[in-house]
Amino acid sequence: MEIKIQNVSMTYPSGKQALKGLNLDLKSPSLIGLLGPNGAGKSTLMKLLVAALMPTEGSILVDGAPLNKVEGKLKASLGYLPQDFGLFEELTVTQFLDYMAALKGLRSPQAAIRDVIRAVNLEEKARARIRTLSGGQRQRVGIAQALLGDPKVIILDEPTAGLDPKGRDEILDQVERLHKETEMTVILVSHSMEDVARYVERIIVMNRGEKMLDGTPKEVFRHYKELEQVGLAAPQVTYVMHDLKDRGFSVSPDATTIAEAADEIMRSIQ
Ligand code: ADP
Repeated sequence: MEIKIQNVSMTYPSGKQALKGLNLDLKSPSLIGLLGPNGAGKSTLMKLLVAALMPTEGSILVDGAPLNKVEGKLKASLGYLPQDFGLFEELTVTQFLDYMAALKGLRSPQAAIRDVIRAVNLEEKARARIRTLSGGQRQRVGIAQALLGDPKVIILDEPTAGLDPKGRDEILDQVERLHKETEMTVILVSHSMEDVARYVERIIVMNRGEKMLDGTPKEVFRHYKELEQVGLAAPQVTYVMHDLKDRGFSVSPDATTIAEAADEIMRSIQ
């Protein structure tokens, strides 16, 4: 599946322009990080993709067809992780998934519900009420919900919000595994570089409604000074490697993970 975003602008009725002439090409399967400071337009873009909003200018094409013509089809193949559970706190995990499966129009959803619970390793919590779950477990319920109906694309909006580092790694490891196993396209929306750097193949950085950078993590982190100017930091190792290079070490500063940095430092001192 290919989603083309062509010259898309979005102005809210308040007059606020949230997106300005955005062009993006999202090809499946891929694991994409969508980053940007608060107010950059990330949520607006995701709402356009799930057709919860219509662009005021430009078009969104899915495999060449306008989004409004394939809306039903795309909805069935798109999973979305909302940021909170609102009214659903008192439901058990299974009841919640049952309800969401009904909303998605899944027929005889029992097998699908069992599958998604297994996919996120929550079998032992299937009968627990959502309000009794830890932050990481709640996020996994959210991901399970997004997986109902075997979507081709899932959008995870801040899936690690409020989690400690261990919970964060658990969720992201799981997302990565699901992406590999199912070949789904995953869009991880985040305001934290550190979070997504290790996992994604492509990073799209937005600022003030525009695309600022788009490339592999290595390509994007080369612009670490520009990222800083908009309040985003590259991963810590990027700074360490640049600093080593500035101090005369013959290292490539492109390492984005601790493992890569260690390899590069070893190579330079051998
Ligand atoms: P992000 O998700 O990157 O934080 P948003 O897409 O939520 O950014 O917001 C982009 C801009 O649009 C912000 O300036 C925000 O205040 C504005 N905005 C978002 N939703 C609305 C809305 N419903 N009405 C008016 N302005 C909005």
